[in-house]
Amino acid sequence: MAESERVVVSSRAERKALEKEKILQRESQRNAFKEVSKILKKQESERTEEDLDTLRQHQDTVKELCNRQNRRTVLKRKQEELFDNAEDLKAKVKQLAEAIRQAQHLVVYTGAGISTAASIPDYRGPNGVWTQLQKGRSVSASDLSEAEPTVTHMCIRMLHKENLIQHVVSQNCDGLHLRSGLPRHSLSELHGNMFIEVCTSCSPARECIRLFDVTERTALHRHGTGRSCGDCGSELRDTIVHFGERGILEQPLNWKGAAEAAKQADVILCLGSSLKVLKKYACLWAMNRPANKRPKLYIVNLQWTPKDDLAALKVHGKCDDVMHLLMKELDIPIPVYHRAEDPIFTLATPLKPDEEASHTRKQLLPAALVDSLQHLEPSPLGAGVQGGWFGKGYNKGKKKLAR
Ligand SMILES: [Zn+2]
Repeated sequence: MAESERVVVSSRAERKALEKEKILQRESQRNAFKEVSKILKKQESERTEEDLDTLRQHQDTVKELCNRQNRRTVLKRKQEELFDNAEDLKAKVKQLAEAIRQAQHLVVYTGAGISTAASIPDYRGPNGVWTQLQKGRSVSASDLSEAEPTVTHMCIRMLHKENLIQHVVSQNCDGLHLRSGLPRHSLSELHGNMFIEVCTSCSPARECIRLFDVTERTALHRHGTGRSCGDCGSELRDTIVHFGERGILEQPLNWKGAAEAAKQADVILCLGSSLKVLKKYACLWAMNRPANKRPKLYIVNLQWTPKDDLAALKVHGKCDDVMHLLMKELDIPIPVYHRAEDPIFTLATPLKPDEEASHTRKQLLPAALVDSLQHLEPSPLGAGVQGGWFGKGYNKGKKKLAR
């Protein structure tokens, strides 16, 4: 055998031996993990001398397993919904009311938690859309266009009218802020609005507000709604930022308005948001300023949020409950939503005659029509309907990631 061949053979044998050793090592590691974890599950008083010996021999494994357990406990705690007792809640709301009175420029950030009272499921709560989909369960959302602005939406609109709130930044696509009567220039819908479709070929982009959910055919990276621009004829697109996308539209998302508001804010009030997505938008938090120059943060949410440690106050309560107490404390009446005053009916662009059949979603009806139809049609609230704009987007994103 030539010298060079011998070298090749010996190096191959070495490699094989090395691989075998690695496999054996991994297996013994796995066994140690199994053994140690079995012992750790026992009560301390039940552990034998042999058990204790094993633990001493595998101290690194013990440490790793304890760390894992701790991480699991922390994660579980973060998902729990907590409620302040009545007395604490009242005291906290008093503090919040004072902050609102003192604020020069108050900006409100809202999430799905403010719409749950309108039968729209939230995302990350124990029964939220995101939580359910994570567990592999299907989501049957109730008909979103049946939803109406909640007490919280109406209070926000009123506080804006009273000049106590300057701007609202929302993650919600349900359009309920707009329908509560909040002026559009004071609103940033960061993830879009299910009632709005736009023509991005027109400059500036041309918007159409509709009386139905325009997202029936849209999904991740597929935004065409099937209808066309009345001006230039290009296909209209939805405004929704689906799961896995970043917002690219200037309008109606109004990113500029949100960034500008955050820059001027001295107080930020977060309502019903886990803040897991909002925290990623750096421009909303003035993190480039020293800590004492940043806006004061007030958070109302049942679950943990990543901003809790930075908050001046964290209130664990349902948004509508907190708002009831807050308005009483501020001595401001809570307006009632009336469909007859819903601005969406005056803002909406009617469909062209040949587009009447371009969607199958339920249409919002003006108050007068609802009254006359009420005895004919049972209310479909609570009826199971397809996943809608969020569920669809989520699944698409998952498929893509799995590939
Ligand atoms: Zn156009």
